[in-house]
Amino acid sequence: MNIKNVTIAGAGVLGSQIAWQTAFHGFNVSVYDVFDKGLEGGKDFHKKFAELFKATRGATQKQIDDTFSRLTYTTNLEEAVKNADLVSESVPEKLEIKKSFYNELAKFAPKKTIFTSNSSTMLPSMYAHETGRPEKFLALHFANPVWDANVGEVMMHAGTDKQYFDIVLKFAKDIGMIPIPILKEQPGYVLNSLLVPLITAGKHLFFNGVSDVESIDKVWMISTGSKFGPFGVMDMIGMETIYNVGLMQGQKMNNQEMIDIANKIKEDYIDKGKTGAASGEGFYKYPNPAYKEPNFLS
Ligand code: NAD
Repeated sequence: MNIKNVTIAGAGVLGSQIAWQTAFHGFNVSVYDVFDKGLEGGKDFHKKFAELFKATRGATQKQIDDTFSRLTYTTNLEEAVKNADLVSESVPEKLEIKKSFYNELAKFAPKKTIFTSNSSTMLPSMYAHETGRPEKFLALHFANPVWDANVGEVMMHAGTDKQYFDIVLKFAKDIGMIPIPILKEQPGYVLNSLLVPLITAGKHLFFNGVSDVESIDKVWMISTGSKFGPFGVMDMIGMETIYNVGLMQGQKMNNQEMIDIANKIKEDYIDKGKTGAASGEGFYKYPNPAYKEPNFLS
């Protein structure tokens, strides 16, 4: 099967990036959002990405014009998917929204269409039934920003037919991702399965007074050759997410220490405006955090 026409559902932060990246790589892209406001937001993002690609990624005006010529926008789902070979879904991270979206999509999409979800925390099997075609449904998960953090995690659920897994792996490669095959469902995919325990361990070491932020990051950076330690990473992710994930994990595992650490992050950082790199301060001060100084590791 040859993928040519792609529908992106949800024109928010991630959907708009996936749409742009896909159109830039030569595919016809129909951008769908249920709200006019969402669709207009997606168009605004695309104007910004055009400037960004010219300024920082060496894109020519012709490449930008060609990208725009391959993009169409609609709030009509039937129209959006009428020719779709593949749908990439980035609607909000709420189970009811995902379920009702796939129920609607199943009504309008041609039989051939492969459905992929970009959900970060949910598993495809949680709404495979609603797709009406579980064998053609799987996850294709992107990181933010799609073009720099260009890993495409492709994950099957138990009912996915392997031939569609292979097609989606190839599609991910064709739009500039490094495709990562994930053969069975894993909450958090590969990336967060590695990253969340590292962050949790870092927080534990610091908030229990075992060591300080910079020392912990130094150990990780020196011994693994990584550009960041757990606290540099947390600043990039943003404290709100770190708080939400920490609290959720603590409640799920009934772990009071994790809950206390999450609350400490809220009191000592979020409530004081230190919400991470984007706000100018988190564990480090930005735009020149200590861990980026040339002598940090010496
Ligand atoms: P967002 O809130 O920026 O965008 C969601 C968009 O979906 C909005 O434009 C909204 O109008 C639209 N929408 C709402 N209901 C809809 C429906 N029923 N049908 C179609 N569109 C609908 O969200 P986001 O950050 O882009 O996240 C979307 C998905 O991508 C989530 O599943 C999230 O887990 C995943 N994701 C996000 C990131 C990230 O860094 N933001 C990274 C990887 C994956």
